[in-house]
Amino acid sequence: MSERKNIHFFYRKGSQFEEQIIRLKNLAIDNGFTLVEQADNANIIASIGGDGTFLQAVRQTGFREDALYVGVSTGQLGFYCDFDIEDISGMIDAMLNEQVEVRRYPTIKVNMENDASFYCLNECSIRSGIIKTLSLDLYIDDLFFERFKGDGMIISTPTGSTAYNKSLDGAIVDPKLPCMQISEVASINNNHYRTLGSSFILSDSRSLDIRLVNEGNNFPIIAMDNEALSIREPGSINIRLSDKRIKTVKLKDNSFWHKVKRSFL
Ligand code: NAP
Ligand code: MN
Repeated sequence: MSERKNIHFFYRKGSQFEEQIIRLKNLAIDNGFTLVEQADNANIIASIGGDGTFLQAVRQTGFREDALYVGVSTGQLGFYCDFDIEDISGMIDAMLNEQVEVRRYPTIKVNMENDASFYCLNECSIRSGIIKTLSLDLYIDDLFFERFKGDGMIISTPTGSTAYNKSLDGAIVDPKLPCMQISEVASINNNHYRTLGSSFILSDSRSLDIRLVNEGNNFPIIAMDNEALSIREPGSINIRLSDKRIKTVKLKDNSFWHKVKRSFL
């Protein structure tokens, strides 16, 4: 049996869809797939849940570039879920079909001053953890760009542009453009504090440094997608586009723009 058909199912245990998941697993076995308990041994990682589950599946399996991620939705079809748990045969067909297209989603890499580094598929968010505002200095490459004061900043990937970034009036970005978008969360703008005010997009050759200005608020909440870190005084945070791309199955008539239309229009 080809080891390219090792599949790992990622889902929350005790899921109300346990019955469908068992059917899905049996169908996978009947079609020549091998179920593997360890995601490390899988070539296909199937996330069952919503977009939030997909983000966790990618994070908990280490942003594998050599694996194909497949999102199976248990509710509405989201941005990372191309399949519906109720349409199992469609999923098996697509996976057995060697001709199926693969799309690659850009990710961003976040490096902390203490050398810890993280990848994000949606966004990195930096927000005040207390009721006081947060002050951040932004540097683009080596240029001091602005001092931000407000609730926080979101640095999103193209696929993350339809998530938190969209709620902040950021632009929706085609994932074929490798870039990152910086959006403000409630900036203070007056005669003392001035920021750009609009979202802006940086190319894959740019680097963004964010330094916390210590004004008594050194408790930011820093999150990588849907996972929050508790870091006190993070120092300088460097964010750039990473070389890592997340591979997913691309179904016919289900481009990113089909999804945008389906979800928002
Ligand atoms: P959540 O609070 O349950 O999710 C918020 C919603 O965002 C859910 O409907 C989720 O879809 C959807 N979503 C996730 N990624 C998306 C994407 N790339 N494009 C469009 N919609 C997307 O938390 P979660 O499910 O763990 O998702 C985490 C994400 O929520 C974060 O990465 C951030 O982007 C977003 N978020 C948004 C706000 C805001 O808009 N004010 C605030 C905090 C976080 P599912 O229901 O399919 O999971
Ligand atoms: Mn969710």
